[in-house]
Formats: sequence, structure tokens, C-alpha cells
Amino acid sequence: NRAEVHNMAAGPSPLPTSVLQQAAKGLLNYNGTGMGVCELSHRGKEFKGIVEKAEADLRELLQIPDSHAVLFTQGGGTTQFSSVFLNMLAYHRLKSKDVPAEQYSPPTVDYIVTGAWSSKASAEAKRLAVPPTPNAQALANVHIAATTKPTKFNRVPRKEEYNFTNDAAYVYYCENETINGVQFAGDVDSPAAVPFDLIPNDVPIVADYSSSFISRPIPHIERHALIYAGAQKNLGPAGVVVVIVRKDLLVDTNEAALLGGVPVCPIELEYKILADNGSLYNTPPVFSIYVSQLVLRYLIEEKGGMAGVKETNEKKAKLLYAALEEAERKGLVRLTVSDREARSWMNVTWVIDEADGDEESSREKRFLKGAEAQGFRQIKGHRSVGGIRASIYNAVSLESVQELVNYIKNWAAAEK
Ligand code: PMP
Repeated sequence: NRAEVHNMAAGPSPLPTSVLQQAAKGLLNYNGTGMGVCELSHRGKEFKGIVEKAEADLRELLQIPDSHAVLFTQGGGTTQFSSVFLNMLAYHRLKSKDVPAEQYSPPTVDYIVTGAWSSKASAEAKRLAVPPTPNAQALANVHIAATTKPTKFNRVPRKEEYNFTNDAAYVYYCENETINGVQFAGDVDSPAAVPFDLIPNDVPIVADYSSSFISRPIPHIERHALIYAGAQKNLGPAGVVVVIVRKDLLVDTNEAALLGGVPVCPIELEYKILADNGSLYNTPPVFSIYVSQLVLRYLIEEKGGMAGVKETNEKKAKLLYAALEEAERKGLVRLTVSDREARSWMNVTWVIDEADGDEESSREKRFLKGAEAQGFRQIKGHRSVGGIRASIYNAVSLESVQELVNYIKNWAAAEK
């Protein structure tokens, strides 16, 4: 029974039950049409209405400025690793249209690497930058502007660790690292905030918000050239990806490629094509967009918008980290993110008994077994890092987190 489990999956993750009930109806009979939402033409007025509502609600929730377009696309966050690189390079090339191909020097792209997902994004940029012929230059110089890899991504970089390129084609960061549980602070004055003040003013900023999207307001949203997020954590079923992009970045990538020096961008990855066609250039993931739209409405109508959602998420994170810190003081667990200000509100990660060398110690096994019996689901850490990860996205209630806190306290008392 759904009401008896606390699903703390990292993604795909739980969605609000009332939204799923509504979606189930729409799946059979959308708005009295006698046809299900997945059976309607994506070019018909019903579906267009859904896309328009989703965009309007997202704009309201996140205060997206008019300077930015909102796009719905697919291919997951992973496809954005490639799309970002190809579109941003084209944008950069078109800014120096008059420079002939022989004289065009490939730009640097700056990546801030704070965990598994920004590592993968930078690796994809390197992969795509491969020179077109063996003696040619790479299509871009992929520069790591800062990384916390040497300390196993246990924090975000300190201000003095950043080394940005003055004329980079863009700076890329991942706001919340889903696997490592490390997140930039939401408070822009925190030392763990995104270092907006250190990034040269005219360098575009790109952010992966996949696992923290609509969990709290986006600081300096207007300063971003592009923000993207896969749906499958806070927004809806896997399938749709939201891209919020500054309108002047919507460029004809083919025109750029013809100038020479930048690669061709596959048509489905070009943001301009998506924007020119109202996100309906090809068949979109209709069900995923539909449920996402219901989730957005629900957050506005029933959860107090971003302010309300933020307040609840902050409470949840504080409660859980406080319980874990208490267990940490007793030597029972170790929080994997040492810097408190960089601890994720969405993915809370810790290890149990790393000292005894087992892949999964007996104490960890007891923890997981007991948790399972109490209804907690999908809380084992990612296979690449081990340990425990409780993902407490928007649809995980404060009550569920309180239950987890009680469980941790009882477990700690029993272990000591
Ligand atoms: N970025 C982040 C922060 C993620 O958490 C994920 C997936 N969990 C991705 C990118 C990749 O997304 P996808 O699996 O949709 O390609």
C-alpha cells in the first residue's frame, strides 16, 4: 500500500498521490474528450493547452524573466550534456562571424566539477571536442575551473579555488549533485553559494538543476544563460526535460557550422528549432509533460508556491541532518558532505561503519533491514559510492522525514 511506504528514491522518485490520481483519469479520458491524454494529437488544441499551462505555471513559480524562453524536450539530462556544448559553441562562433575559419581559435569552456554529474558533463564536452582531423585543434578547450574530486566531492569549492577563464564560451555547474549529496547553498551570501561574483560578467552561465528543480527559488535566475532539468525527481515522470534559455542564445547552429570551426548540431538538439516550434518540433513526451503540468499546478494551489515548498524542504533537511549529526557524534555514521552549507536538501548521504572494510558492514545491513521493515524504500546509496542516500524530494512529506528521524534515533540507541 502506497500510504504505508516512505519512498525515498533518488529518481525516478515519488509524485504526489493526488496528482497521480488525476493523471490516471486523464490517461483514460482527458477533460471529457473520451480520449486519453496519450491518445491526443500533440498538435491539437488540448495538448497545446497543456504545454502552455505548464510554461505559464513554471514562469510563475520560478519567476522566469521574459528574457528567457522555456522549452520542453527529451533525451534526459544526459542529452543536455551534449546539447549545451553544441549550442553554446555555435553561439560563440556567431559572435565572431567575420573571423574566417582559418583564424578562428576554439574557445575554452569552464566546468565546475562537484560530483558525478558535472564530471560526466565535462567528460562529454571533452568527447565532443575531439579534433575533426588528427592535426587540427580540438573544437574547444575543456577547462576544469574548480573540482572537489580530490576530497571525494565532500563539499563545493572555496572561493579561492576557482580559476575562471576570462573569455570562456560558458561556465557550467551542477547545482545539486544527486549521487554525492552536495549542493550549492541557496543563500547567495554563503561561502558555499555559486560564485556568481567571480564569473566574468559577459560569460554565459549554464546550470544543471535536474535534482533540485522547483525545490526552492533559483538564485540569480536572470544571470543564467541556460538552466535545464530532467523531470524525474521533482517535476514528473521521466521523459521530459525543461530548458530555460536566454532568448539571444537561440541561434541557428547550422549557420555557425557553415562558418567553420564549430561542429554540426543534430537538429533535435538545437534550442532554436525547439523554440521556433513551441517545443513541438517533433512528437514530445506527452504523458510526462501532462503530469508535470499537474504537479506545477498542485505546487501553486496546494503547497504555497516556491516559498511554501522551500520552507517545507528546509525543515525536512534540517531535521534529518540534525539526527544524523547526533548519530555522527556517537561515532555511528559519517555524513559524506563535511561542509554543512553544501549539504543537499534533496539527497542526504551518509555512510555507516566504513572502517570495517566490508562492502556493506553488518551494522549497515542492520540499518537497511530495519529501515525496510519500517517502510523506507530505495535508500541504499548509489552503487558508485555506497552508503545510504535518503532522497527527500518535494513529494516526500515532512511526516515521512520525521519517521526517518525517529527510526535513526531508535537505531542509534540500539547500536550503542
Ligand atoms: N544531472 C543530474 C543532476 C542527475 O541527477 C541526472 C540523473 N539522475 C542526470 C543529470 C542525468 O539525467 P538522465 O538520467 O535523465 O539522463
